[in-house]
Amino acid sequence: MGKTTGFLEYERVEGPVRSEEDRVRDFYEFHEGLKEKDRRQQAARCMDCGVPFCQNGSMISGMMSGCPLHNAVPEINDLVYRGRMAEAYRRLSMTHSFPEFTGRVCPALCEAACTCGLHDEPVSTRANEKDVIEYAFEHGLAIEEKPAVRTGKKVAVIGSGPAGLAAAQLLNRRGHEVTVYERHDRAGGLLRYGIPNMKLDKRVIDRRLSLMEEAGVQFVTGCNVGTDVKASKLKKEYDAVVLACGASNPRDIAAPGRDARGIRFAVDFLSEVTKRLLDSDHKDVPYELAKDKDVIVIGGGDTGNDCVGTVIRLGAKSVVQLEMMPEPPKVRAASNPWPEWPRILKTDYGQEEAIWKFGHDPRVYKTTVKEFIKDKKGNIKEVVTVSLKAEKDAKTGRMNMVPVEGSEKKLFAGLVLIAAGFLGSEKYVTDDFSVETDNRSNVKTDCGSHRASSDKVFTAGDMHLGQSLVVRAIAEGRSCAKEVDEYLMGYSNL
Ligand SMILES: Cc1cc2nc3c(=O)[nH]c(=O)nc-3n(C[C@H](O)[C@H](O)[C@H](O)COP(=O)(O)OP(=O)(O)OC[C@H]3O[C@@H](n4cnc5c(N)ncnc54)[C@H](O)[C@@H]3O)c2cc1C
Repeated sequence: MGKTTGFLEYERVEGPVRSEEDRVRDFYEFHEGLKEKDRRQQAARCMDCGVPFCQNGSMISGMMSGCPLHNAVPEINDLVYRGRMAEAYRRLSMTHSFPEFTGRVCPALCEAACTCGLHDEPVSTRANEKDVIEYAFEHGLAIEEKPAVRTGKKVAVIGSGPAGLAAAQLLNRRGHEVTVYERHDRAGGLLRYGIPNMKLDKRVIDRRLSLMEEAGVQFVTGCNVGTDVKASKLKKEYDAVVLACGASNPRDIAAPGRDARGIRFAVDFLSEVTKRLLDSDHKDVPYELAKDKDVIVIGGGDTGNDCVGTVIRLGAKSVVQLEMMPEPPKVRAASNPWPEWPRILKTDYGQEEAIWKFGHDPRVYKTTVKEFIKDKKGNIKEVVTVSLKAEKDAKTGRMNMVPVEGSEKKLFAGLVLIAAGFLGSEKYVTDDFSVETDNRSNVKTDCGSHRASSDKVFTAGDMHLGQSLVVRAIAEGRSCAKEVDEYLMGYSNL
């Protein structure tokens, strides 16, 4: 710890953010970094407090608390404070594969568990992390070396999201020959076609993929494993297979009129927008998808927020975001103490932009859609919403959200985006590989293992955990790589 009184002297300061008015005109990132002096001051707030839940990464009350990668947060902050950025990068890269992704999109589990955050604002660890990795790229430190020796073993990684990429990176470093298969036209998983460009500029992914390719990782895009190439062939050709296909099965809304045109799953919509932007270098902005439309987003979570930010950029006339659950409290409830993940009201960038544009928060709580109404041509015209209340199930004792009779309302709708979560892995892949799944359709393994029920097959990321976070997918990919390496070599030095 460099500055013993840092947390008393300095307030938390965020980097500058482009104004709503400016940023909704394009799909580029809007968070900027701090100047070096200011960043060092921010790092000086970290007290190496001796109770570093920030780097703990364990489940508390069913939620991850602290960094699952176990980044040595106090050490890195200390090096940033001292201006020793190259060393900070070296320390960070011992535990992390892609700080440039989490530095932009992580909800910062480390900050939620920071001791400073108990009574005050937490240390700005995520922003410090982003500055460290950007420094490393600017100064030519972020390199991916070719392994000195090849082991002669071949590994196929199915899925190029953060889990697949992290597994591929480490297995390649170890000297195995790694091929990543991806069904989309570009690699990156939900980093590419899920998280919008304004949160994670896709050039940041390309920069990393180039390094990995130069180091020997091969990418086969546009190849749907289970359809274009079968599991039996891959299992013959490779010594191990890592399934990292994500939890891409979206939860639907079963309501009358669901077949109306203009009702779309959020990820399909977000992917189409990003693909059009990427294919045209941001010249072909697909305004027609939302311009002048009343948009209903079903789902109050992060994906829903990304939809709100996207349709505002596309010129939506109005946007309403429906959430089944009640509005969370503004501060931690007594039943949700530090260092648990705080279940509190968060107003994210899309909602901020909606407030700026329409003058009110787009979220409507304790509400869902009861019916979709079509016009004569079969296009969505309106939705009928219904309020919900919490009621205890007499048999199970669980609280359920049930409709309140007579609370129906009609809302205009020219576009409906379903962002209601995901139901786990897709059956055609798990069937083709003959791997068992659990009751949430995640690939089944022993606790603490990545080994699936079929010979040679391992799994990582959302396909294993269910829909989660980028940081957890990276941690999964890394630990899976270690297990695959042990399987192939009898031991692992990863
Ligand atoms: C809209 C949205 C926004 C999000 N925002 C955030 C955020 O801000 N911060 C955060 O931490 N998390 C966020 N998440 C969650 C995060 O993106 C995921 O938890 C993470 O990407 C999971 O990584 P993964 O590698 O397991 O799977 P994915 O990223 O889903 O990647 C899986 C890849 O496998 C490919 N694939 C699937 N089946 C096959 C097949 N048969 N053959 C070949 N390829 C296949 C898919 O096309 C995909 O590219 C968001 C999720 C969504 C949907």
